Amino acid sequence: MDEKEFCKKLLNLKPPWIVQNVIMNEGKHTLDIYVDHPKGVKFPCPECSTESIVYDHQRERIWRDKDSIDFETYIHAKPPRIRCKKHGIMLANVPWSEKSSRFTTRFETHAIDVLQATDVTKASKILRITRDEAWHIMDKAVNRGLARKTSNPEIIGIDEKSYGKHHNYVTIIYNLIKPGVEYVSFGRKKSSINGYYKTLDRENRKTLSTFS
Ligand SMILES: [Zn+2]
Repeated sequence: MDEKEFCKKLLNLKPPWIVQNVIMNEGKHTLDIYVDHPKGVKFPCPECSTESIVYDHQRERIWRDKDSIDFETYIHAKPPRIRCKKHGIMLANVPWSEKSSRFTTRFETHAIDVLQATDVTKASKILRITRDEAWHIMDKAVNRGLARKTSNPEIIGIDEKSYGKHHNYVTIIYNLIKPGVEYVSFGRKKSSINGYYKTLDRENRKTLSTFS
């Protein structure tokens, strides 16, 4: 298996995406994977899924991926813009990342695991990202979690932490029965709890026990 084929498997890339080039820098300990697609392929419109022709490409974007064998791994690609008959010119989705993220989905999933196991300062060091990026990933994951949530928590724990030179505050609300982060808010405890309560239905607000 050559390096392109290896990286294709590593990223779990499906047609029409192909690995065009791989650059391994042993000095910087980085792996840069350049991803492209053959000419003439179609991509689904992000709105209506209609297979549509490529109109043009955005400038090259770079996504941080999960490290490969300890090498900081980056995906490079020019995201295609398609012309949908119904919706006009649209930016096609790329399979490795959510819209507007600088990280691949695989990296974000890994980052959440690390963030849940330790605090943000340590997690950002392990992941080699900034604390702001770590908070942003956590915030997005929590929003996704809240959107998905089907049952309400019985007991929550509340943690307020300060960070940065200017003593910014962040409040994290945990589910203590089914361990996981329920809610993250940039602010002090009291206003954050109020924001969180608004996401609960009235019945759950009455029965909820709180530890802080
Ligand atoms: Zn469309």
